[in-house]
Amino acid sequence: MTTALITHADCLNHVTPEGHPERVARLEHILHALEPLDVERVTAPMAAEDDILRVHPASYLSDLRKASPAEGWSQIDGDTFMSPGSLDAAFRAAGAVVRGVDMVLGGEVQNAFAAVRPPGHHAETDTAMGFCLFGNAALAAKHALDHHGLSRVAVVDFDVHHGNGTQDLLWDEPRALLITSQQMPLWPGSGRPDEDGAHGQILNVPLAPGSGRAEMEAAYEGQAFPRLRAFKPELIIISAGFDAHQDDPLASLNWATEDFAWITAELCKLASELCAGRIVSTLEGGYDLNALAAATRAHVEELTKAPA
Ligand SMILES: [Zn+2]
Repeated sequence: MTTALITHADCLNHVTPEGHPERVARLEHILHALEPLDVERVTAPMAAEDDILRVHPASYLSDLRKASPAEGWSQIDGDTFMSPGSLDAAFRAAGAVVRGVDMVLGGEVQNAFAAVRPPGHHAETDTAMGFCLFGNAALAAKHALDHHGLSRVAVVDFDVHHGNGTQDLLWDEPRALLITSQQMPLWPGSGRPDEDGAHGQILNVPLAPGSGRAEMEAAYEGQAFPRLRAFKPELIIISAGFDAHQDDPLASLNWATEDFAWITAELCKLASELCAGRIVSTLEGGYDLNALAAATRAHVEELTKAPA
């Protein structure tokens, strides 16, 4: 069994204004760093509208289509921009994660990583936010539940920012366990432990600024992993943001590159124990280009070594 690396050149056509941290070079650096790895390279399809509409209303999709500029940029939120290529990039990003779910559940590969942008975990039901247009992880979870008929899917979000969008999209979904760790305080400000979902199925894990491996291990081994074991997911989706890295300019956690390898390896062991190793991971944040490339490579390398 192998690891699928799913991406599309369209994801390089989502262009942000000069100086914006969520930039084309992020994905270029990642793809370069992943070149030597032994993975199955897969071209991301466009997501079907039905996949988007599982989590976003049709009015939101039509608003984004209207906002899509013929040239230059349209600004749809304080820090979220669309260029002429952004909508196709967003459909490829969502399509990549859905394709990952199809491949993993179909037994074609053991796990998958979607190297895509724009990211997704801040996009709420009808609000683009924080560089995100579609809730890629949440819509992939819904696809696994509604299209494939799974009963339980877990989403684990270790991006340094709170996955407020995924939380919003899965708030009332009892079949989805969401575990999200985030630096607190930090933008967007949500992610307190008392935000626990309509069915108590959301676990928010705040991490103090400056904290590193020891606090991360304590949080995951003490809270996250026991919840995963108790929930018994049939699939684990990872919102893989690499901005908890000590070199990241947007946050102040102190995770080292090898800490991303550790958390990935632990999630792979849990997936092996709980769901035949089935993991679909998707790129979220990470804004220091060298740290992002190294941590992403460490993450995908662990996926390729994962036990079945
Ligand atoms: Zn982030």
